[in-house]
Parts: sequence; C-alpha cells; structure tokens
Amino acid sequence: MTTQTKYKARILIVDDEKINIKILVDLLKDDYALVLAKNGEQALKFSFQNPPPDLILLDVVMHGMGGYEVIKQLKESDLTKDVPVIFVTALSSVEDEELGLKLGAVDYITKPFSPPIVKMRIRNHLRFAHQHKLLDRLAYLDPLTEISNRRRFDEVFQREFARSTRNNNPLSIGMIDVDFFKQYNDHYGHAMGDRALQSIASALKFSLKRPADMVARYGGEEFVIILPETDSTAAHQLAERSRTSVSALNIEHIHSKASDAVSVSIGIVTFYPNKILSTTPSAQALLEQADKNLYVAKQNGRNRVVATLFGD
Ligand code: GH3
Ligand code: MG
Ligand code: MG
Repeated sequence: MTTQTKYKARILIVDDEKINIKILVDLLKDDYALVLAKNGEQALKFSFQNPPPDLILLDVVMHGMGGYEVIKQLKESDLTKDVPVIFVTALSSVEDEELGLKLGAVDYITKPFSPPIVKMRIRNHLRFAHQHKLLDRLAYLDPLTEISNRRRFDEVFQREFARSTRNNNPLSIGMIDVDFFKQYNDHYGHAMGDRALQSIASALKFSLKRPADMVARYGGEEFVIILPETDSTAAHQLAERSRTSVSALNIEHIHSKASDAVSVSIGIVTFYPNKILSTTPSAQALLEQADKNLYVAKQNGRNRVVATLFGD
C-alpha cells in the first residue's frame, strides 16, 4: 500500500448542467482535487477563497450570472487574475471563441469534446501556470535575503501611493540603512556580511505585522518598508520596533561606533493626502524625504529613527 502524498492541483468546474459536470468529474477525478459550482455566483465564491483554485473550467451560458461575467470579475481581483480559465461551452462560433479569449481565458473548448485532448490541455495549462508562478517569484525576490526586491518595491509603492491619494488614507514609508557596514565587511569578511544581511532582512520582515506592510531590499545594505494606512504615530512605533529587532539579533560588530552590535538607522516619512502642501507630492518625493531623514539619523549618531510628515 502506498499513501498518496503528491500535491493534487485543484480544479474548479463550473456548469449548470449536472450531466456536463459528471462527464468532467469522471474524466478528472483520479488526477485532481475537484471543486464543483453549479452557477456563476458559486463559482466566484469558491474562486475568491484563499488559496484560489489552480485552474477553472467555466461554462459560458448558465442561469443567472454567465461565464463571461464570471471571468471579468476573476480578472479584476489580484487573488484570481492569474488563475487559468478554460471555457468549456456549446457555443462554437468563431466570435464566441474570440470573445472568450479576449476576456482572458487561456483556452476555449467546445462541446462535445474529446476527453483525452481536454485532459492534455488541462495538464499543459497547469504546467504553464506553475512555471509562470516560479518565474514571478524569481523576478520579484532578492536572491540573497529572499525578501522582495527593488522591482517589486517600485511596483507596490506606486500602487500604494495612488491608493492612498484615492482613498485619502495616510501612507508611511521608511528607508533603512545598516550602520558602519563597510567596517563590518572589512573586519568579518563578505560572507559574514551576507549572512548578517539575511538575518537583518528576516528580523525586519517579522517586525511588521499587517499583511499589507512590506519590506524590500532596496540595494546593497539598504532596505525599505511600506506601511499603507499607517499614521505618523504608528509608523514611528513600527520603525522603532524594526530598529530594535535588528539590535536584538545581537550580531557582534566591534568596529561600530553606534553600538556593540549591528544596528540600523531609519528615516520615516508619513504622507497625508488631504494636507495642503507647497510641493507636489509623488512617490519619488516621499522616498527622497525618507532618505533625507535617514541622513539626519546618521548625522545624529546612527542606530536611531528620524520621522517627519511629508512636506515638513
Ligand atoms: P553608514 O553607517 O554611514 O551607512 O556606513 P556604511 O559603512 O554602512 O556605508 P557605506 O555606504 O560606506 O558602505 C556600505 C557597505 O555595505 C559597502 C559594502 O561593503 C556593504 N555591502 C553592500 N551590499 C552588500 C552585500 O550584498 N553583501 C555584503 N556582504 N556587503 C554589502
Ligand atoms: Mg548605504
Ligand atoms: Mg550603511
């Protein structure tokens, strides 16, 4: 006897005809974990669960919400926009197929279909989606520290800046720089330096608690944190916690003039979208002010946080 430990991809089958669902279930049940929905509303409900299904087989014409409306909503959500959707439908005109693909479906299969071919197409699309996920990880992760990289930061920061302005919520951002790190490398060696950066990255990551908070490696021994919907008081407290979490690693640094252990300096800025300002706010301007605050923290003796409101 063998126990089944292999991960089974989850496929959501959406069709309002029982007989159609049964055909697909019989075809796929041995290889996949199946979730069944008998209308568009149910399909969305099951799709928006975290994690979403790995692939969706979607009927077009259904009572109530149709397949085209379902895919539109799936494509609008960050959680589901990359889940491959295959239309399985009796609508066989070229126009229908074109529309389905335009809406973002990866494939369009007309009924009646050939079971072995459908099976292979599903397998291929699952493979593509898996590879896409791996590439995404590589493109957005810093290889040394395994936290988000600069590219990811730029994207998220632009998005959060726009969201903050749109919803009139405060946004805080912090620039973090390791103190006397050149001396650390010179004394302890580059490999130890790398290891220290890894520990610092994970300490920073765990010092943030909310899912929307983010830390990224900005470059070299510099990190950035994005704190959406965070006012200046909370941002200052969080930055203080981040700074302390690095000190608490207690990584010996005998050549630091700021502390006995490796420490960081942090510049924080909080943006209030409704505040009247003499300068035009932009993501770039926020970052520059955070960097200025970091510079002041360095000037004032390092191993400290300097926080201001944007524009002050
Ligand atoms: P300060 O307190 O003013 O920030 O001084 P510092 O020595 O940290 O600043 P400086 O910018 O002069 O030096 C940064 C050093 O960080 C240079 C380099 O040796 C080190 N560094 C940057 N990236 C890496 C990396 O990926 N690995 C290692 N091991 N060291 C790095
Ligand atoms: Mg630096
Ligand atoms: Mg430094």
